[in-house]
Amino acid sequence: MKRTAVIIYWLILLVSALAVGAGAFRLLLREHSRLESAGLAAARGGAQLLADEVALSVQELEQKLGENLAAIPSANRAVTLAEWEQGHPLIRNSFVLDARGAVVYPAPTEPMTGEQERFLRRYEALFSGRAAWTGPAAEQPAAPASARQEFSRLAVAQKALSSSADSAGVPAVQTGWLPWYADNQIQLLGWALDPADGSRYGVELEMAAVLSRLAPAFAGAGEPYALLDGDGRVVFQSGALASNAVPVVAVPVGAVLPHWQVGAYGTGTATAAARGTFLLLTGLQVGVFVLAIILGGSLLLWQAHRHWRDAARKTSFVSNVSHELKTPLTSIRMYAEMLAEGRVKDDVKRADYLKVIVDQSQRLTRLVNNVLDFSRLEQRRRAYRPEPFDLAGAVGETVESQRTRLQEAGLRVEIAPPAAPCPVVADRDAVTQAVLNILDNAAKYAAGGGELRVEFGADEQGCRARFLDRGPGIPSAHRARLFEQFYRVDDSLSAKQPGCGLGLSIARRMMRDLGGDVRFEPREGGGAVFELAVPRERAGS
Ligand code: ADP
Repeated sequence: MKRTAVIIYWLILLVSALAVGAGAFRLLLREHSRLESAGLAAARGGAQLLADEVALSVQELEQKLGENLAAIPSANRAVTLAEWEQGHPLIRNSFVLDARGAVVYPAPTEPMTGEQERFLRRYEALFSGRAAWTGPAAEQPAAPASARQEFSRLAVAQKALSSSADSAGVPAVQTGWLPWYADNQIQLLGWALDPADGSRYGVELEMAAVLSRLAPAFAGAGEPYALLDGDGRVVFQSGALASNAVPVVAVPVGAVLPHWQVGAYGTGTATAAARGTFLLLTGLQVGVFVLAIILGGSLLLWQAHRHWRDAARKTSFVSNVSHELKTPLTSIRMYAEMLAEGRVKDDVKRADYLKVIVDQSQRLTRLVNNVLDFSRLEQRRRAYRPEPFDLAGAVGETVESQRTRLQEAGLRVEIAPPAAPCPVVADRDAVTQAVLNILDNAAKYAAGGGELRVEFGADEQGCRARFLDRGPGIPSAHRARLFEQFYRVDDSLSAKQPGCGLGLSIARRMMRDLGGDVRFEPREGGGAVFELAVPRERAGS
């Protein structure tokens, strides 16, 4: 698989994973909005039910009290009302106005309680005739701001309970209710107008007692609901509510309690914070999902790419090995035939030809040894026979055995002998094989540099032989994979130098098995340095 193909596949994977992620995110968002509006509708429904219940309870109360007011005999209204005021828990204050609208009760001539004085002050606008007893708010004159009185902006709840004439032909008493705001508090004032004598009388309700009758409706509500007064303060609630909780939806109670609302704080409905958390969690979930697809896909692509690369490398290995076998075999056959047929008369030439045959057979042996080592190492069948020997001596011998070949390749070989012997414990054949591979590479790739220097070093762990050439070196992009099997800097079949990419990988593998290593570093001033490290003590098997 070519690099561009891998990039294209990966882009396709990325785009489709992102598209799937975006789709999933949109779906989840839509589902969340659907649930949210369902929750909101349920909360609104619950709040509406409670608001209706509150309105109904207040209306019932007003109706009953209105009937009772209408039924008070005209002779002793002030006395009856005073008794109600004293004994009825729902009645806070009462009043009687004569036909001209003057206050008869509480009698202005007699001493009044503080409560009665405040009551008269509260309704001063009404009792003085500046505010109307009936009709919509628009018709009411604005109450003085200092008195902090105002009429409801909503239509005032008015009911003429018995406005028609009774059976005896006497016009019936009219009654009505007025929600009245004073000192930021709502009050409910019930009144009755007697057409017979023109007097108007009525009662102000004890709001605490009225509200206590509404509370049971909230006690049974499952989700948190609250009755909110005109300023949005919680009058009472069902369930636990945080002090700063804001209702998700609020429904007005209606004209009986203007500006009052029932608020729902439904747990099933979302607040802005909950929505933020949902978005964050959904984003994270979808992100992980998309990441998993991309990672999984990338892993598969990477594996496919690796398999393709390995397969391609093995194919080129087979071609390279065949090519490497064919070249020396052809030379050997050609020179052997010439000698066999007795066509070469000159002794010097004959010796030259024989040398070519020997060299090429050695090349064949090295190749076959490498291939054999490779398969033994692959199958973990390579047995080592560690023995103590002097590394400098062994490396020196191998280099000397190859000196002629190296010189013929154009390399001036220079061995810097160590100051002291380098005793190591290792498999001598394996070390020789590794050195041969390094020398072989120097002859193949660094011949143009004209120089091969061999140095030695030692420390407590072991000894090192360093091979320094002035060839082209290894480009930095290839260094990391230099010791991989079949890896060649130029692995095309038309590569200038034959090879199958096994020499360095075998050398390193064997040295590591023995507790040592083969390392590469670029040489200062150009060229390559290959370092063979062998331990003093036996480490591998
Ligand atoms: P082979 O020589 O059969 O290709 P090796 O494993 O011995 O395989 O070497 C791997 C690659 O490292 C070579 O193909 C070559 O490109 C590079 N190489 C090895 N030694 C040298 C060197 N001394 N100078 C430059 N390149 C080298």
